[in-house]
Amino acid sequence: MMKAALFYGKEDIRIGSWELPPLKDQDVLVKIKSCGICGSDSRYFFNGPSARYTLPTILGHELSGEVVETGKGLQGYAAGDLVALAPIIPCMRCYPCTHGQDNICEGGQVIGVNIPGAMAEYIHVPSQMVLAGGLVKVPAGISPRSAAQAEIVGCVLHGLRQVGIQPGERILVIGGGPIGMTFVQLGRLHGARMFSSELQENRRALALELGAEAVVDPGAVNLKDHFGPTFDRVIVATASIEATLQSFDLVRTGGSLLLFSGYAKGAVMELVLNDIHYRELHIHGSIDCTIQDYHRAVGLLPQLQMDRLVTSSFPLDETQAAFYATRNPGAIKVMVEP
Ligand SMILES: [Zn+2]
Ligand SMILES: [Zn+2]
Repeated sequence: MMKAALFYGKEDIRIGSWELPPLKDQDVLVKIKSCGICGSDSRYFFNGPSARYTLPTILGHELSGEVVETGKGLQGYAAGDLVALAPIIPCMRCYPCTHGQDNICEGGQVIGVNIPGAMAEYIHVPSQMVLAGGLVKVPAGISPRSAAQAEIVGCVLHGLRQVGIQPGERILVIGGGPIGMTFVQLGRLHGARMFSSELQENRRALALELGAEAVVDPGAVNLKDHFGPTFDRVIVATASIEATLQSFDLVRTGGSLLLFSGYAKGAVMELVLNDIHYRELHIHGSIDCTIQDYHRAVGLLPQLQMDRLVTSSFPLDETQAAFYATRNPGAIKVMVEP
């Protein structure tokens, strides 16, 4: 038995005990060191879980931890190794999985949704995940807190692969949350010129420190008047429909748009279709990351400053308070660290 933050429903998390399954031949038991609260965790906490959940469950898929024990048949991991875990356990047999798109696996199991997540003392990593390559050793010198955010880096890397940025390009990131801030860092690493649009002052300041060439407050400046259609790529990292519509006025002819954020259920938007045709615009979606993206993300951690996104951290017993803290002004990334 272990201690865990059990998610029972809307705004209802209770600390309780959870039975860990026995460790099979190729499974790994990991002691959680750090777990980030993702936008999706918050959505389920504040709006109530979707039908995919069997309650109670344990939330949290942005995690790092220390290997405690490995199954007898498994090599390559030792007790004490700091590891990070990819968010999806792919089946590796369906059409997307066999075509390099295991992020959209038809039968994928998602950590913190269909299988218990990381807001707990331990996580049991099933062999299917270990053998798919999703349990990744973290480079020396990386903090557990940074390692937990490898998931964010993987998803952002996946998004950048969709739009295919080139050195020297002008990229606008709309939204300066953890995702937007990671786009700024990774874009810089790719040699692009990064611009950030964000309402909150502390986030704009951080975006500049993390490598943005310029930041704007969309509450004070009309982006269309200010920039015009000058960006090679516009990345929409906010659920705002207004911002999404506006991105069409900011991208250059022949450029591309990336819709990275999840929207409110059933959200619709009107498009001028000839705008896409005559201006040859490319519109991309991006969801989660592949195991390959995730490996690259862990390898990139030494070149990023992911721990600078963390604004507060709570012990496991205060998991519910941690969720409320995500709504504090100035909050960027909130962690649960048992
Ligand atoms: Zn996440
Ligand atoms: Zn699959």
